[in-house]
Amino acid sequence: MSETRILSADEEEMEDAVREAANLLDAGEVVAVPTETVYGLAADAFNADAVAKVFAAKERPEFDPLIVHIASFKELEDVAAVPEDIAPVVKSLAGAFWPGPLTLVLPKTARVPDLVTSGLPTVAVRQSGNLIFRAIGKQLGRPIAAPSANRFGRISPTSASAVEKELGGRIPLIVDGGACRDGLESTIIAIEPREDKKPLIRILRAGPVTKEDLQKYGKVVIEKRITDRPDVPGQLESHYAPVTPLLMFAKPQDFVPEPGKKYGLLSYRGDPKAGYIDAHDWEVVEELSPGSGKLMEAAVRLFYVMRSLDEAGLDAIVAEPVSETGLGVAINDRLRRASAKPAD
Ligand code: AMP
Ligand code: MG
Repeated sequence: MSETRILSADEEEMEDAVREAANLLDAGEVVAVPTETVYGLAADAFNADAVAKVFAAKERPEFDPLIVHIASFKELEDVAAVPEDIAPVVKSLAGAFWPGPLTLVLPKTARVPDLVTSGLPTVAVRQSGNLIFRAIGKQLGRPIAAPSANRFGRISPTSASAVEKELGGRIPLIVDGGACRDGLESTIIAIEPREDKKPLIRILRAGPVTKEDLQKYGKVVIEKRITDRPDVPGQLESHYAPVTPLLMFAKPQDFVPEPGKKYGLLSYRGDPKAGYIDAHDWEVVEELSPGSGKLMEAAVRLFYVMRSLDEAGLDAIVAEPVSETGLGVAINDRLRRASAKPAD
């Protein structure tokens, strides 16, 4: 593969872009597509050869399972065998959050190739709310397997140009749907029934749908960090990482600069009161939510800002944590994973 085409999906160009993408997917090709979370690298979920191309383009190890996207709630039964005891809560959650950034881990059907789930008996499913993505899925008429459209372990792309940097020359087409609305990967949950009680909802990956959002539907727990669960494929320690080392300090005093090194600051809101701004003579300071300190804005900008700091020629990026509430849990999770020592 040499040339990667980028097709705009703006207004009157959308129909052509959707048709082109669906045709390529139908023919067993991979296509980068926008979702409301991050850009995905899509393949026909029922075509194992096409799915293999996703792993190849991303250099993703085959023990890291993909998320399957359905175009309608009706399609759920094609990919998941929902156990009766959790069917009511699955229905309520889908009613409340689909289409949207919530992924459910459910027992898989035989139609889902083992490659998609890395051999697990479960499949991760969601329905994307992005209009372009939905139109492509509808036209294809089959579920779409789509992990984030970055090389393995790298920062997830939130724009078509970021996808081009990650996968240009490796895939035939990128559908440009503009910047992603949420900017963070979906929340992933598993559901366990409990006798005479609301079910247990385990958050396997924090994301745009927060613990607070889910509390109405069951007892919610945020699963322990990934290294504690080596049995769960895909829950890898190092992820979303820039090439430049990213350092995270709970307190600004913990940062001790090495002489002669160039440091940049990834600040939450650029507020000197947080103590980081004045902790060092930074080469560059990037703010996630300048001034107002809104977590939603910080989430949308996180990967964009990480990328721009990564390209700034620094020796290291120092990241200031955001408040550990609501969406902040997912943002801090990404920062922590970005700062983990890369796996060999
Ligand atoms: P990505 O699409 O790149 O955001 O990655 C999808 C992630 O979903 C994987 O890395 C896993 O962490 C998670 N995942 C996918 N399938 C399962 C599953 N069956 N059980 C638990 N986690 C899963
Ligand atoms: Mg990913």
